[in-house]
Amino acid sequence: MRKKLKTSADDRKCMFSGCKQILSIYNHQIYCHVHRDQVAQEQMRKIPYHHPV
Ligand SMILES: [Zn+2]
Repeated sequence: MRKKLKTSADDRKCMFSGCKQILSIYNHQIYCHVHRDQVAQEQMRKIPYHHPV
């Protein structure tokens, strides 16, 4: 059985400035689902699209 000794992993907040969303322990992203999508779109604009060949 796994005991919950460390709680830090349960207490991660979205890294988006001003966002107080607590991330699920199952969410391994640094952003909540809302900002994850936003940031992903931002990055798609910055990073040139390249095909996996
Ligand atoms: Zn957020």
